[in-house]
Amino acid sequence: MDLGLANTCAVVTGGTSGIGLAAARILIEEGARVAICGRDADRLAAAKAKLDTVKPGAVLAERCDVLDGGDVNAFADKVKGWSGGKLDLLVNNAGQGRVSKFADTTDAQWREELDLKFFSQILPLRAFKPLLDAAPAPAIVAVNSLLSLQPEPHMVCTSAARAGVQNLLKSLATEFAPRIRVNTILLGLVDSGQWQRRFEARADKSLTREEWFTALARDKHIPLQRLGAPDEPARAIVFLGSPAASYITGASLEVSGGVSRFI
Ligand code: NDP
Repeated sequence: MDLGLANTCAVVTGGTSGIGLAAARILIEEGARVAICGRDADRLAAAKAKLDTVKPGAVLAERCDVLDGGDVNAFADKVKGWSGGKLDLLVNNAGQGRVSKFADTTDAQWREELDLKFFSQILPLRAFKPLLDAAPAPAIVAVNSLLSLQPEPHMVCTSAARAGVQNLLKSLATEFAPRIRVNTILLGLVDSGQWQRRFEARADKSLTREEWFTALARDKHIPLQRLGAPDEPARAIVFLGSPAASYITGASLEVSGGVSRFI
């Protein structure tokens, strides 16, 4: 199947690691040019070097904190010049989760989490909308979590914020139709930067990486008995964002190894 991504331009926020980096690589393999961003200059340079080996010159890498309006507008300006004034696909992926129960989450932490989850969508959406409007068949894909529909008490504020974001994107799928398609992916557990950091902070240092991840998949009752690899959600992102998904909008695709308990 031809995804129809040749000669398109995409933005992937948080494209320096994990799922975002994998999505950027697959988009380039499919013939797109991709602009990525992240906060850390070293990670950004390393990601650019990796993507340059896929196809030299196909990536624009800019330092940008998606929670900083000035950064996001400057990133959009750079993309505008680089892409010729249009954007075919925006992938809102940047972010991370917060592990905390209600009893140990402060008001400041609630505000920080709500800010991260909402404004990592709102600021890029607003800044890139004019470029999306100028493309022939534009699309937005938001990386969200299964926590939005199946909350976990140990990630109380992430779950609540994710639910709100899911609601926001459903509204946008209607508001932006018929010009721009808007879809989300709902992740379960994916072996990427944030799980690597939790592995490194594990209590029992005698466990190997494989043992720790196998136990995690068992404890979480994942039917496919493992965490996802970054390429697995990345392929779903690329499909939903491509012209091949031309009649799909307002949809959510679960990429979780089957971990949801609802129908
Ligand atoms: P990674 O930590 O590997 O990647 C996160 C990326 O986002 C990095 O490139 C990071 O770069 C960037 N980033 C984080 N905050 C910002 C910011 N404020 N501005 C710009 N870039 C930022 O994790 P994943 O690939 O797993 O995460 C991708 C998305 O998937 C995230 O939104 C995450 O919350 C979500 N998710 C992941 C799950 C999983 O199991 N892995 C489960 C549910 C959701 P830098 O730090 O340099 O800024």
